[in-house]
Amino acid sequence: MSSSVHHLDPESQQKPWDVVVIGAGAAGLFAATAAAQRGRSVLLLEKNRKLGVKILISGGTRCNLTHHTDARGILAAFPKSQAKFLRTAIHALPPTKVVELVEREGVETKAEATGKIFPVSDRAIDVRDALAARLHRSGAKTQPATSVQEILHENETFRIVTDLQELQAHRVIIACGGQSYPGCGTTGDGYQWARAFGHKIVQPVPALTPIKSSDAWLHALQGMTLSDVQVTVVTSDSLRDLHSIPKSAVLDTRRGSLLFTHFGVSGPSALDASRAITRASEPRNVALLADFLADVSYDECVAQWRARIANQGRAAVKTILAERHQRRLAESLMALCQIDPTHKLAELSKANISRLVQHEKRCPIHVTGTQGFAKAEVTSGGVALGEVDSKTMQSKRVPGLYFVGEVLDIDGPIGGYNFQAAFSTGWLAGSHV
Ligand SMILES: Cc1cc2nc3c(=O)[nH]c(=O)nc-3n(C[C@H](O)[C@H](O)[C@H](O)COP(=O)(O)OP(=O)(O)OC[C@H]3O[C@@H](n4cnc5c(N)ncnc54)[C@H](O)[C@@H]3O)c2cc1C
Repeated sequence: MSSSVHHLDPESQQKPWDVVVIGAGAAGLFAATAAAQRGRSVLLLEKNRKLGVKILISGGTRCNLTHHTDARGILAAFPKSQAKFLRTAIHALPPTKVVELVEREGVETKAEATGKIFPVSDRAIDVRDALAARLHRSGAKTQPATSVQEILHENETFRIVTDLQELQAHRVIIACGGQSYPGCGTTGDGYQWARAFGHKIVQPVPALTPIKSSDAWLHALQGMTLSDVQVTVVTSDSLRDLHSIPKSAVLDTRRGSLLFTHFGVSGPSALDASRAITRASEPRNVALLADFLADVSYDECVAQWRARIANQGRAAVKTILAERHQRRLAESLMALCQIDPTHKLAELSKANISRLVQHEKRCPIHVTGTQGFAKAEVTSGGVALGEVDSKTMQSKRVPGLYFVGEVLDIDGPIGGYNFQAAFSTGWLAGSHV
């Protein structure tokens, strides 16, 4: 049923639905299910021919559906104002309930070492099918391949104009996502509807998007992943003196694996850091500092080199660096520090050591931009939270209108947090309409 296109009989088109949900992504599927199982007549409209298209491509087609933590752990991952808004929703449907719901449909899940939860099958389609089966059982009707154009509020009823027909509903849940990966159907349509109803939109910018750099040494390392790098986003004027970086120059710090690519950097630490770049007033005036030894302090790092020089003065610099880093990175660090790889430790000058430590702990990466909405996993910004009731997801401006999922000004880090927020806000709205 999930991928079939079927349209409504004429009678269904005329009667006002209790609830029309716009967008069959993570949030819409949960909203429609929760509302229909409470006996509401529910119609779920989706622009694509398939339901849950983003679920299908998520997590490298493995779908990292949530995180192995409790409600508090989920909330702690979001910026404070977002966490405050999400509190009721996440407590109403915490990660354990999401896992339970999917497992009850026959899809076993597993938590990986990073805390990310995936289906045991590593197949995102199993998660999508489980959610579609659950939706189907709830009694909600679906109409794929239907693009909503306009929503009008007349005499306490909503008129929903689609590219195929006009529909009526007592309540509308807008679950149409943000504007990242527009090929998935998410083209930011919800913002214009929200604006038309008087809602404020926080400027949408791409988040969780790969970072571009023209530094040649990065490109030479393409394909390499480091499992633990701390990435700090700084204003680029702080590159002038890497010894003392004022707090005010630090825009964000994230830690996790880092992937070198032909255009710059990606992987969780870079993706998580990208929001600080796209939110910066001048994204081209920021840079990254990569800390390749995040567990060792700057001073400890200096002390380690001093001890090595004292005890292993005859060892080649390249041998020692290769013990501290992956070989290709070690070679790049020597080139960046302009140190002859065959140099013995005892031959290193103070300035050499200082440069080495600096590049191990604060290696500058010049930023030329990001891959933008085209490759962004989420949109930061959206419907301002202050105008939505966090206890129900209902608009404070228009009774009967609800906003759920990524169309809201909500964006979490990599790790299953974004699906969790979408599932929970959808569920909460569906439980109140
Ligand atoms: C490549 C990629 C990988 C990701 N991986 C993960 C992951 O592993 N874990 C995680 O937590 N998050 C992941 N995310 C983020 C996650 O997919 C989103 O945060 C989540 O899908 C948001 O859910 P949503 O229901 O609000 O919006 P969406 O899932 O985007 O769904 C919105 C739906 O509304 C439909 N729609 C839009 N406009 C209209 C209209 N006018 N009429 C009708 N329908 C409309 C769209 O076609 C779409 O199907 C990933 C995102 C991407 C792009």
